[in-house]
Amino acid sequence: MQTAAAAKMRDEALRAAQEAKGFLSPSEGERLFELSASAQGTLPMVEIGGYCGKSAVYLGDGCRWRGKGRVLSIDHHRGSAEQQPGESYFDAELFDVGAQAVDTLPAFRLTIRRAGLEDWVIPVVGESAAVRQCLGDIRTAAVFIDGSHGALDVVADFGQWGPTIVPGGYLCFHDVYPNPKDGGQAPFGVFEHARALSEWDFVGLYGSLGVLQRR
Ligand code: MG
Repeated sequence: MQTAAAAKMRDEALRAAQEAKGFLSPSEGERLFELSASAQGTLPMVEIGGYCGKSAVYLGDGCRWRGKGRVLSIDHHRGSAEQQPGESYFDAELFDVGAQAVDTLPAFRLTIRRAGLEDWVIPVVGESAAVRQCLGDIRTAAVFIDGSHGALDVVADFGQWGPTIVPGGYLCFHDVYPNPKDGGQAPFGVFEHARALSEWDFVGLYGSLGVLQRR
């Protein structure tokens, strides 16, 4: 990943990312920013699993830095299976009592507004597969897969979004854990599968952020 030496996140964006709830580490976020800042052309970057906007800020500020591209952040904003009431990652602050459902969209919008990125990050509220179907032959500069970590869902996200990435574009997975003791194995399994295919070059594994680049 080559980044122009001057690429640097704005303080406002960095602060908003740090304050947002989420599971991306600061160094993983910095990698996403670098990747976004080094992307070419005006094609959008897609993230699957926007949650409270942390990763969207890193990707979005990279677009803003180079003045090109946008982030389409796709999420139904109802939380993943492990974020539902009674589950291990449930967060009562993200529960909409009126709707009796998790709702991460208000937190997402707050993060993006605080980061000054409302012109650069476009939230798309819906299921990944349904949104993909609506977007036909879309081409993308990068896809960041961090939605449902169920095995079939990760396979589906890779199968449906991977082909949209143009040559030179990036395919990223979050929560890639080579050691099962560190976390679920679905993202790692799909990452390894993709890495073995001839169309992808391995760029690196940064924390649990796995990055490939299309040949
Ligand atoms: Mg994640």
